Amino acid sequence: MQFMRQETPRRPKRRIPPKHLDHARKSSGGGRPLGAWIGGALLGAFVLGTHVLESSIPSAPRPAGPLPPAPPPQQETKTDLDLPPLGGAPGQTIGRVALVIDDLGGHLSAAERLFGLGIPLTIAVLPGEPHSRTISREAALRGHDVLLHQPMEPADFPRSNPGPRALLKRMSPGEQMRILRENLDSLPEAIGINNHMGSAYMRDRPAVDRVMEELRRRGQLFLDSVTAPRSAGYWSARRHGVPAARRDVFLDPDEGEGILERQFVELARQVANRETAIAIGHPHPETLDALDRWVPRMREAGIEFVKISEVVNQPSAASVQRSAGEERGKN
Ligand SMILES: [Zn+2]
Repeated sequence: MQFMRQETPRRPKRRIPPKHLDHARKSSGGGRPLGAWIGGALLGAFVLGTHVLESSIPSAPRPAGPLPPAPPPQQETKTDLDLPPLGGAPGQTIGRVALVIDDLGGHLSAAERLFGLGIPLTIAVLPGEPHSRTISREAALRGHDVLLHQPMEPADFPRSNPGPRALLKRMSPGEQMRILRENLDSLPEAIGINNHMGSAYMRDRPAVDRVMEELRRRGQLFLDSVTAPRSAGYWSARRHGVPAARRDVFLDPDEGEGILERQFVELARQVANRETAIAIGHPHPETLDALDRWVPRMREAGIEFVKISEVVNQPSAASVQRSAGEERGKN
């Protein structure tokens, strides 16, 4: 099968610079007493378990057969990890995580590993990469959510380059819309978009409003990657009647040794406090290795993995009506 061919990554690793991560490490603060208790239990157990688990998980060779389909969201997979049930009765779900993997499209092997995790995923695909179409189609066939990972202008552009098919502030509004529509049309499986980079573009309210108008017309959702503070994305989406969500945790910011383990603990803590969290990771080998370790542990602890479409905030009836009214007013 063509899809299984191993590829050499063409795209250099893109790390999110620490300065873009203002929101990623912030504690959610306060929290309900029960949530705090569960958080403590989770954290303790995860941290204590780390050494045992790392040595006890064999690095199993990946199967060479056809890629497994995503299981239905409720399906429980028993692992051989001897973790006690945390924060509730055995089998009880304590919270949900929507796991989004960005920057896919450059090579197939990362997608193949992700599909092998056996959980519902959200696959964010860059437009126009060598394997964007294949990965988008394969992900949708396996029941995962697909997003267009729309490149947008970063604050330090052009030193940081969002790549081809990006939305740049210097372009005319017409040019920006033409690019966005072409990108959306190129990935018909996409149910919405999230931003790749965009720390400058996402603060440009008129530009962001135009993006949301297009998403509303198509009935698609918006996930704000929150690559910088004061992003206009989430509230613009809400105003336009577009289903919307914000990233809570970046799993793999470029912050040195041990960051992945710390971010997974942070993710577990946020789920314990708030019941639902959205995590974004990237298809780096270290992140994929960490997912192999952490996904079974989190499921064992009662965390359910869900797709982004299950956790977005649906628009209020009022915002949909208002937005439709504004649209009619323009025509
Ligand atoms: Zn990205």
